[in-house]
Amino acid sequence: MDSMKIYISGKYFSRSEAKVSVFDHGFLYGDGVFEGIRTYDGKVFRLRDHIERLWESAKGIALEIPIDEKEMERAIHDTLAINNIKDGYIRLIVTRGEGTLGLDHYLCHDSQVIIIADKLALYPRELYENGLEIVTASTIRVNPSMLSPQVKSMNYLNNILAKIEAYKAGCAEVLMLNSRGEVAECSGDNIFIYKRETLQTPPAEAGILEGITRRVVIEIANEIGLKVKESPMTRHDVFTANECFLTGSAAELIPVVKLDNRTIGNGKPGEITKKLLALFQKETKK
Ligand code: PMP
Repeated sequence: MDSMKIYISGKYFSRSEAKVSVFDHGFLYGDGVFEGIRTYDGKVFRLRDHIERLWESAKGIALEIPIDEKEMERAIHDTLAINNIKDGYIRLIVTRGEGTLGLDHYLCHDSQVIIIADKLALYPRELYENGLEIVTASTIRVNPSMLSPQVKSMNYLNNILAKIEAYKAGCAEVLMLNSRGEVAECSGDNIFIYKRETLQTPPAEAGILEGITRRVVIEIANEIGLKVKESPMTRHDVFTANECFLTGSAAELIPVVKLDNRTIGNGKPGEITKKLLALFQKETKK
């Protein structure tokens, strides 16, 4: 394991040597941004989209990324090469850097760029075959007027509190509602339903992270002539859907067969879900 090489601001460190300052506001306050990216057979999937989202997240919190986009792409490819990873997961992090114990962001310097390339820990195979059972969290997804969920920040406590509820309920994922009581997303995945020959997913305004997998699934659905609706959803829509699935870089597409112990559709992964997963996987091989 210690053969892993982690990129920190231009240098490589072994796992045990890869460290940042305890005065880094990323550590002190979760003040920073990140991305989770997949690589398939040596090709980084939708790298441009992830780079764009990282820069947008940074802009959203007035954080200047210390290297340019080209350099970031090079660093990602180099980190994959050094670790000899062709199929895996990349965690890209940019911290605010070292500051004082106060909140002042302008006193921070030495913003750190960290790249970790690792093998992927997926949901167990049987969950893809049988589908996930999820529950609704009582933890509400953070309201966009407080902190936009579109900022993929290093502070994931809102999602972690929901994930704790999943764990307590014996589930691998959890549905989060927004402050209007509408379906937002899961703790680390976006949600889709299929009903009345239409694929539906909550819009950005529902207070979600606009997932890149979500975007690819919408593109694929459009290509195959499936009707797609990005519009507000309630739990009722999920209960009465024919199919439901989640999307995320790590998960790809994973079927959901129960919400709050209530069976969705016929309780088995749906045909549209399976078809979209197959097409998604084809897309990752292009
Ligand atoms: N929502 C949240 C809260 C996430 O953390 C993620 C990523 N893990 C997603 C959705 C899915 O985004 P993507 O498809 O870009 O991985």
